[in-house]
Amino acid sequence: MNIGAIEAGGTKFVCAVADESGKITAKTTFPTEDPETTFQNVQRFFGDHQIHALGIGSFGPVDLDKSSNTYGSILNTPKTKWKNYDVLGRLKKDLQIPIFIDTDVNAAALAEYQYGAGRDVSSCMYITVGTGIGAGFVQNGKTYIGKSHPEMGHILVRQHASDQFAGNCPYHGNCLEGLASGPAIEKRYGKKGIELADAQHVWELEAFYLAQAIMNYFLILSPERVILGGGVMKQGQLYPLVRKKFLELVNDYVAVDDMETFIVAPELDDEQGIRGAMELVRSADNV
Ligand code: ADP
Ligand code: ZN
Repeated sequence: MNIGAIEAGGTKFVCAVADESGKITAKTTFPTEDPETTFQNVQRFFGDHQIHALGIGSFGPVDLDKSSNTYGSILNTPKTKWKNYDVLGRLKKDLQIPIFIDTDVNAAALAEYQYGAGRDVSSCMYITVGTGIGAGFVQNGKTYIGKSHPEMGHILVRQHASDQFAGNCPYHGNCLEGLASGPAIEKRYGKKGIELADAQHVWELEAFYLAQAIMNYFLILSPERVILGGGVMKQGQLYPLVRKKFLELVNDYVAVDDMETFIVAPELDDEQGIRGAMELVRSADNV
């Protein structure tokens, strides 16, 4: 039985097919355009590969409340053509197979939990620090969704006294995403993160914000492991800085056995999104 997967991102869509053993046998990537063009591309790809079920890890916010009559639709987004677009309905109509949908970050967390940096623990988080900031949480093989789904990138953090940047979140200004995403770094300093690799103060400030966020997630969810991924985390010097600031903030209130294995890098080489989408099907009880 072939399984299909879609990693539906705000800038690109990745589609893949895997055989029964989980091996990816076909894969394609195309830019996220308007929904009509994008889903025509999706249908063309899966038309060439017979699949029996599909998992989709979607950008959001997306309605994941199964009792809602807009379940599977994109909600609020600056991408106007996608606002209120019924992603799940469209795919069901086009493909006529069982489809399982979750957030892109929950899917990534699930793949890392199953095959990557979280495979030896019973709960983990995956946090992406990229164009936006988002996080997913998995416990005992199930992603956490809640009423619709968490939006952990938009939490409030204390702004550093030396940081005058107003923040670039269109909804909240200086929320975590508004202060610490890749575009926030670029806007604050007028240079991309990659060009600031040697500027120690940039990564100290970045770690100051990420450590606060992880402390909050840790106190609320108590994950056994925190996996930090996304483009900005390619700055490997961030890991020790985040660990150090996290420890200072927690201040021994809750014990962490080993910081080196608590806050870690992903292990699935940017494949966690698509493999997680596939895993949504494999982990569903009813297939
Ligand atoms: P997306 O979040 O769109 O899926 P990424 O996770 O690659 O994509 O994040 C893109 C963001 O990460 C951009 O703002 C980019 O400037 C930043 N970024 C990408 N690579 C690096 C790097 N090596 N160092 C610092 N920032 C980076
Ligand atoms: Zn925000």
